[in-house]
Amino acid sequence: MRKQIAAANWKMNCTYQQGEKLLDDILKSKPSLQPQQTVIFAVPFPYLIMASSAVANENNVSVAAQNCYQKKSGAYTGEVSVEMLQSIGIRYCIIGHSERREYFHETNADLAAKTDLLLEMDIRPVFCCGEALEIREAGSQNTWVEQQLQESLFHLPAEKLTRIVIAYEPIWAIGTGKTASAAQAQEMHAFIRGVLAAKYGKEIADEISILYGGSVKAANAKEIFGQPDVDGGLVGGASLQAEEFVSIISALK
Ligand code: 13P
Repeated sequence: MRKQIAAANWKMNCTYQQGEKLLDDILKSKPSLQPQQTVIFAVPFPYLIMASSAVANENNVSVAAQNCYQKKSGAYTGEVSVEMLQSIGIRYCIIGHSERREYFHETNADLAAKTDLLLEMDIRPVFCCGEALEIREAGSQNTWVEQQLQESLFHLPAEKLTRIVIAYEPIWAIGTGKTASAAQAQEMHAFIRGVLAAKYGKEIADEISILYGGSVKAANAKEIFGQPDVDGGLVGGASLQAEEFVSIISALK
């Protein structure tokens, strides 16, 4: 069975002390994880080492960076390289979050470069895709998401593609309280899996975890995660409250 993942994306929230407490509260009360279940905490860069040591004795719990730079090293003041992440033992990195695409002008080509660097260093990209409201209203969401996948991932050989986690996050559902319905999520996830199958074959497509993101909370997680092509979630706001996130973890298949 492919991995079922509850990933917390803290974004630019929490002080160090709040982050330490949040992790501690979640780890103390989370259910024990089944072999196919994974929990990931994507925390701000300055907390990566603290979070890694907090989860060091946990099974199936990892820490992720929220971003990395698309060049190997050099004169890029303020950026963080993939090699830096690897050197502190990070195993996952979110890339292409819609907030980065929008505010930092990241392109599909930048994300292809990040993907390559991450895979070279054996860090698994959590690749975000998803459409804005205008695109959904125009009925073009499938073409849009397919192009994001094609331009950032489809240069990869099959054995590398299986290292990717995909997160479908419709922009209109992020931080808005407006969740995609379970049926809308399933429809897009099945479409994404179909696009992967057309390019790489069904067996490979069936191995890839596709997470849903956008206003996931304790109250809707079970229904959304229960869809056959939804393999967990990438959670923003609700991951900052221990009790909420623990319930979300409990909703994994
Ligand atoms: P919310 O859960 O706050 O809507 O954020 C979703 C998200 O962007 C996770 O990456």
